[in-house]
Amino acid sequence: MNSIKLEENNNNIGSMNNIKKKKHKAIRSCIVCRKRQEKEKLFRVANNEIHELVYDKLQKENSRAIYICKDRNCLEKLKNMIEKGKLKINLKIDLSKLNIVIDELENELGE
Ligand SMILES: [Zn+2]
Repeated sequence: MNSIKLEENNNNIGSMNNIKKKKHKAIRSCIVCRKRQEKEKLFRVANNEIHELVYDKLQKENSRAIYICKDRNCLEKLKNMIEKGKLKINLKIDLSKLNIVIDELENELGE
């Protein structure tokens, strides 16, 4: 009986640790609408190792990045902002290829 109780206790500790991990979520805001969301719910665009701007699908690039809603409206607005030179970002990211990345993000959203 005692050994069974011990096992149960251990399982409880294990599941509590899992809950703790899940609660720790990074929040980022969209550069267009400033809405704050868990970063997994946003598109991440990062500078990769060779300083190219890329859609960081797995969010693994260890670099400066910008976040955008997975939303066609925000992508459209972002394009307009680039066109009109209204995009201001406090990060040292070369934005000259951002339009190409936005096309990729739109494809990702599908129709
Ligand atoms: Zn947005």
